[in-house]
Amino acid sequence: MTQDLLIRNASAILTGLPGAAGRAVGGDLRVRGGRIAALGALAPEPGERQLDATGCVVYPGWVNTHHHLFQSLLKGDPQGLNATLSPWLVATPMRLRPRMNAHEFRLAARVGLVELALSGCSTVADHNYHYWPDMPYDSSAILFEEAQRLGLRFVLCRGGGTLARAPAEGLPAASRPETLEGFLGDLERLVREWHDPAPDAMRRVVAAPTTPPHSMRPQELRETAQAARALGLRLHSHLSETVHYHDMVHQQHGMKPVHFCESIGWLGPDVWFAHLVKLDEDEIALLGATRTGIAHCPQSNGRLGSGIAPVRQLEAAGAQVSIGVDGAASNEAADMISETHAAWLMQRARAGQDALAVHRGGGGEGDAAATTVEDVVRWGSAGGAGVLGLDAVGTLAPGMAADLAIYGIDRDPRYFGLHDPAIGPVASGGAADLRLLLVGGREVVREGRIPGLDLAELGRSSREAVQALLARC
Ligand code: ZN
Repeated sequence: MTQDLLIRNASAILTGLPGAAGRAVGGDLRVRGGRIAALGALAPEPGERQLDATGCVVYPGWVNTHHHLFQSLLKGDPQGLNATLSPWLVATPMRLRPRMNAHEFRLAARVGLVELALSGCSTVADHNYHYWPDMPYDSSAILFEEAQRLGLRFVLCRGGGTLARAPAEGLPAASRPETLEGFLGDLERLVREWHDPAPDAMRRVVAAPTTPPHSMRPQELRETAQAARALGLRLHSHLSETVHYHDMVHQQHGMKPVHFCESIGWLGPDVWFAHLVKLDEDEIALLGATRTGIAHCPQSNGRLGSGIAPVRQLEAAGAQVSIGVDGAASNEAADMISETHAAWLMQRARAGQDALAVHRGGGGEGDAAATTVEDVVRWGSAGGAGVLGLDAVGTLAPGMAADLAIYGIDRDPRYFGLHDPAIGPVASGGAADLRLLLVGGREVVREGRIPGLDLAELGRSSREAVQALLARC
């Protein structure tokens, strides 16, 4: 049930709003009926429950816009650890995913969701491509059930596709492609069973063929976009994670990846792509002009040696920016504090990498440090809600859903000596000291624990599941 309470005396409140509004004035915040009622310097009302946030900072709950939860049992696989994207795909997810059973899939989802919740994440969009013809269980339902169990908002990006990367006859059943009718039929079923179009929905469905040039033929991608829009659904996929996408789309269609997406109706404010690391200037302009979104995944892009996405250039051009952790098989720190910490550092690193000396006609050090913690908080909260179309989620402002994280900065020496407490969780990184996570005013995490969850038992089950999975391979 939702809790009405007054959060008092926070050292700082970051709101997720742009500009000066990114920091609230005053350290109090009132929650009423699952929504934020007021911020500022607030006097308690008679009988009102109070929570003393002295020594704490308050952020909006994080919105993770790209994940593959099934990979939460595939961390650090030695066969794919030191590989770039294409060989890693073959070595790890393509090898191990088809061998996972329903129990392992559920356990992986639970591990990933718990990890996110403990970092202060309140909304998770999972790009699930665990589908094949006549599969014996419903992976979509498992994901919704696990998110519901924890009380997190969940957006199912229904992946899969009609093309296989190898001849279908030689593939295990779980690697076989679907038909377009099968894909679209299941999408319609998922909408009937789970989709809520409300601006503060707890459950949404998105059409998300796994990777446009790999997963479906152009005409099928066009039909999928039309069918999704007719159902009121958004579109999501991977794009331009490495230079390989440019080679492949150039070879297949004689154009650049973003132009290919334009040609099949896959750009617009209702579309967001994970990665977008390798973009030419004209592609950035096109993504910006169409208000297409990005799920920026800096840790996975670093782990796989893909590069650093031009996030600030995209935002300046008009694109919507959000942050995703990506699957844990390419990111052994798939929590939102690690991810946003990396985003802050890597956007600065990229700008510094691009800097040119003045005597060579450049701008010198220029604005390489211009990405602020407030930017990163905004991308990871309001930006995420924006690409997902959850208009009543993502910022700490009156009337918005009470999705918020309270972090302590008074117990861990990592924060001692910090001049500006507001930046602590993102700038200092590390394990968050999460005192409270509310989702729609409901308590999900208290004092770093999820009530009713035996974390040691989850760890034991996970180790056993990994051993069982490997024994079958
Ligand atoms: Zn991904």
